[in-house]
Amino acid sequence: MGGTHRTPVKVGTKWGKLTVVKAIQKNEHSQVMWEVRCDCGVKTYAWGYNLVKGKKTHCGCGWPDATAVNYPGMGTE
Ligand SMILES: [Zn+2]
Repeated sequence: MGGTHRTPVKVGTKWGKLTVVKAIQKNEHSQVMWEVRCDCGVKTYAWGYNLVKGKKTHCGCGWPDATAVNYPGMGTE
């Protein structure tokens, strides 16, 4: 009954292009791996914390968009 612990990722929720289908496994840190389906139709897997943090929002099909939007300062190397 802590009140701070919650599971924002659950079946049917959408994270970027990914819709959560079902839980696959949970590790010892209570981190859950989910089966998700991308808008493009590809089935993939994602850890819940990566979905919450926005680190995984698609199956890989959205790379050009993601880099253009999120990393405007890159390319200075
Ligand atoms: Zn995709």
